[in-house]
Parts: sequence; structure tokens; C-alpha cells
Amino acid sequence: MTTTLLRGRLLSFRRAPLSLADSESYLYETDGGLLIEDGIIAAVGAYADVRAKAPADINEIDHRPHLIMPGLIDMHLHFPQMQVIASYAANLLEWLNTYTFPEECRFVESDHAQKIATHFYDELIRHGTTTAVAYCSVHKTSADAYFTEAMRRNMRMIGGKVMMDRNAPQGLLDTPEMGYDETRQVIADWHGKGRNHVAITPRFAITSTPAQMEATAALAREFPDLHIQTHLSENHDEIKFTCALYPEATDYTDIYARYGLLGPKSLFGHAIHLSDREADAMSESGAVAVHCPTSNLFLGSGLFPLKALVRREKPVRIGVATDIGGGSSYSMLRTMDEAYKIQQLLGERLNPLDSYYYMTLGNAEALSLADRIGTLEPGTDADLVVLNAAATPAMALKMEVVKTLPEELFLLQTMGDDRSVTETYVAGVAVKGQLSEAAG
Ligand SMILES: [Zn+2]
Repeated sequence: MTTTLLRGRLLSFRRAPLSLADSESYLYETDGGLLIEDGIIAAVGAYADVRAKAPADINEIDHRPHLIMPGLIDMHLHFPQMQVIASYAANLLEWLNTYTFPEECRFVESDHAQKIATHFYDELIRHGTTTAVAYCSVHKTSADAYFTEAMRRNMRMIGGKVMMDRNAPQGLLDTPEMGYDETRQVIADWHGKGRNHVAITPRFAITSTPAQMEATAALAREFPDLHIQTHLSENHDEIKFTCALYPEATDYTDIYARYGLLGPKSLFGHAIHLSDREADAMSESGAVAVHCPTSNLFLGSGLFPLKALVRREKPVRIGVATDIGGGSSYSMLRTMDEAYKIQQLLGERLNPLDSYYYMTLGNAEALSLADRIGTLEPGTDADLVVLNAAATPAMALKMEVVKTLPEELFLLQTMGDDRSVTETYVAGVAVKGQLSEAAG
């Protein structure tokens, strides 16, 4: 049995914080100990107590004065868009047609898919992200590369082969039958292997014919435990185009509802411009709206009303994500900085406890995986991030006057990025340090 004891300041949420003063919502140990046995958290608490339970000769790693938290979770990004990031475009549809679709065509080549997969996981680890939910391309080769690399790194990853059969270049189209068969094959090959989860992944209603949506509906019925991921209500032109393609539907959300795709495992990227009716439908079904702030700002898509959706009489479940390559940073810290600014523009406050809750337990709950990730609870996976709020000279200077935990978290979110990630642990193994050695 491999056992490790980590020492540092521990922070882990128990539930969504009600306010900045809600110290009951999280565990915070200023001199904490975290005992890891075979990749699982075995004990958590004051260092002295946890040390007393551990064998005398245990491998001990001292991360003081840094913060040890559950690994960050990214609820929505596109694995084939690493070379699309930072592309200059007027809006979503221009960006898709000019840059994104041509690049995704390259993922039919497994060499290219494998090369990008290596970089993809390196970037996640560099930024302290230990679980992510990704779209692969339409090609099964891309899903194979994605899950092969996840297994090699022993990471808990969710992903799916995109289904799309219209309104894109020929090289990116499957058919209703192909999309169905290949998704079944990806599920057979990868779901439950290692720590992999396969998601049913129709790209969005614009790129799927009604026949393909029927095929998606069949998959959702056959595999009710799988996540479903797609895009919803990102941009006004997109909404208009989508609704014109499905004139029988009441609105954009209703299109997915008609094919049985609204449920507690459904993850809807963006969902910015929902009507009250749509928000009610999301809430009643338990579907998740995944907020992608850097992408929404980059593509000028709109301001996601996060606080308003949570405060509704029928609240909508929320996740947060980078949306690489529409998003502009791999960092969940940078992501929450932009989420904060969007709420500011809407006259709302997103406090720092909210942000760290969303990046960890909040996203784990949105994925129905809080029994495994997003927390430091004993019995869960030891996927962790170690954060340093004094990682740069400017941050260190500001830290001189920081007095409280929320102040420190806010500094990390406002100025932090991958330089603030001291270490990343995957199933109890430190992996970020190994990366820099390989790179050096
Ligand atoms: Zn997306």
C-alpha cells in the first residue's frame, strides 16, 4: 500500500456557501494533515491528529504555507481546439466556420489527435485541473486518443465523440447511423475503463438533423447513467438559426426536451439567453447550465445571469468551465476572475467562497460525482491542487496586507494562474513537478 501524508492549509467545501460569513460551509485547517492511501483520501484534519494515526516512517510532504484543495474541475472544453484558441473572429458562427471546423478536420489523423492529447493533459495538470468534461471531434480517433491519454495519466475524465451531420464541412460530418454506432463503440471501448466516463455528445441542434437527434435520444434511453453534453443559447444569431431549423419547438431548450435530452445528467454549455420558461424547464429537469465566462466575453456572446438563475424560485443548477478554444485561458482561476466581472456588470456579487465552491464541490455536484471528487472527504479520490497566493512578486506584495482567507482566495482568483499552482495530485500522485522536469 502506498501512503502519503500531506501537510498544509486545507480548504474543502461541505456545501454551497450562503454568504461570505458562512464558515460552516467549508472545512479550513490552518495546520492540516491529509492522509492518502492508494490514491484515496484516508483521513483529514489537524496535522497533529492525522500524523498520530499514520505510520512513523510515512512519506510526508510539507506544502506549508500553501493551500491544499480538491483538484479543480472544468465542466466544458474542446480537446481539438488547442490550436484554435486566440483566433480573431467577430462572433460564434464566424469563429466556428473560419477556424474551428477546419482545425477539427485534422483529428481524423490519430497521430495529430495523440499529439494534441499529450499537450491537453499537460495543460490541465499545469493549471491544477484534475477532472474535465471535453468534446472530442466527430472522429472516433479523437475519442480514442483522449481516453487513452486519460488512462495513461489515471485521471477521472469525461468526454465524448461529437455527433454532427449537417452545417459543417464534409470532413466533420457523420450520419445518424454512424454517430449512433461510433458512440456505442466509444462507450464499449472506454466507459468505466480506468477512471473514464463517456458522455453522449451531440454538438448542438444546428449541426444535428432531426434524424440524428432521434439517434441521440435512443442513446440517452439505452444509457441513462451517461452524461449528455451539448450547447444551448449562446448567441442571438445562433438562437435564431436553431429555432428556424426546428420550427415545431417552442424555443431552443424545447428542442432538446423533445428528444428526451433534458435531465440531471445533461450539461448545457452557455445557456446565456434563457427565457423564464426555459429556465423553469431546466430547473424542473435538474439539467445543468455550464457558465463559460472567458468564452462568453471573447466571442461577445453575452452576460450569463448566474446569480439570477441560482436565486430563482426554481433555481437552475450551475457549472463553470473554460470552454477552450472559445475560452481564452486553461486556468479555472482566470475563469472565475472573469465570472466575477460578468456578475459585476450585471450588478451582482460573486464572492470568493462562491468561486472556490464552484470550481470544486459545485462542479462535482453538477456532475453528480461529489462522492468521488471536489472534496477532501475521506473515501474520495485524492485529486488535489496546491495553491500559492504569493506566486509572483506583485502577488507576494499584496499578500503582505491580506488578513483573511476570503481575501487570500480573492487575490488568487484575481491575479493567479498556472504560476500559482505549486503542485497537482492525481489519485495521490504529484504530477505537476514531473511535468516541469520533462519540459526542462
Ligand atoms: Zn463549447
